[in-house]
Amino acid sequence: MRWFNGLKTNSINSYKQLTQAFGSRFITNSRAPRPLSLLLSLSMREGETLKAYSDRYWEMYNEMDENFDDVSISTFKSGLPTEHGLRKSLTSKLVTSVRQLMDRIDKYKRVEEDQLELVHQVLEKIKNEPFFKWPNKMAGDSIKRNRSLYCQYHQEHEYTTEDCRNLWNHLDQLVREGKLRHLLHPSSGHQGQEDDHAKGPD
Ligand SMILES: [Zn+2]
Repeated sequence: MRWFNGLKTNSINSYKQLTQAFGSRFITNSRAPRPLSLLLSLSMREGETLKAYSDRYWEMYNEMDENFDDVSISTFKSGLPTEHGLRKSLTSKLVTSVRQLMDRIDKYKRVEEDQLELVHQVLEKIKNEPFFKWPNKMAGDSIKRNRSLYCQYHQEHEYTTEDCRNLWNHLDQLVREGKLRHLLHPSSGHQGQEDDHAKGPD
């Protein structure tokens, strides 16, 4: 798109400026499609998974009648937190089409799924071990808690297992004490799966 390529280098330093530049060109135009302005204001929420964010994003993208791919790619990246691995990847290795963007997102979604899966697997494997300690009850009123999220460590509702700080602290402690050595080095026991799950995609 010509207006986008025509922007002076370094004239856009922030997502806000891009939105404004874009807005002055399109959003104020009464004929501009609403999904586009919604897409531009989209960003990943605190605690939101990449899967949830990209699902929201593509839903809006698919509602757009016109092709704004250059902008769509930029806004997806801008909506990610600065420290997010995918954002760093999209910065260091540019994608030039929506197809490429989708492929890159899929790679990082798989990493995310693996990470979430891992904590459940570890908990399942060690919860009956004598060294494993269950936590105290959560503080506060259980009635006011978020019923849609469940922590398998506390066995209470409020947040998810992978977001449980107490569980991560306990796992860290067990690792330091050498109790999880059999899980960290599975090849010493049986043949571990040799794949690149531990490595991040490029
Ligand atoms: Zn918990």
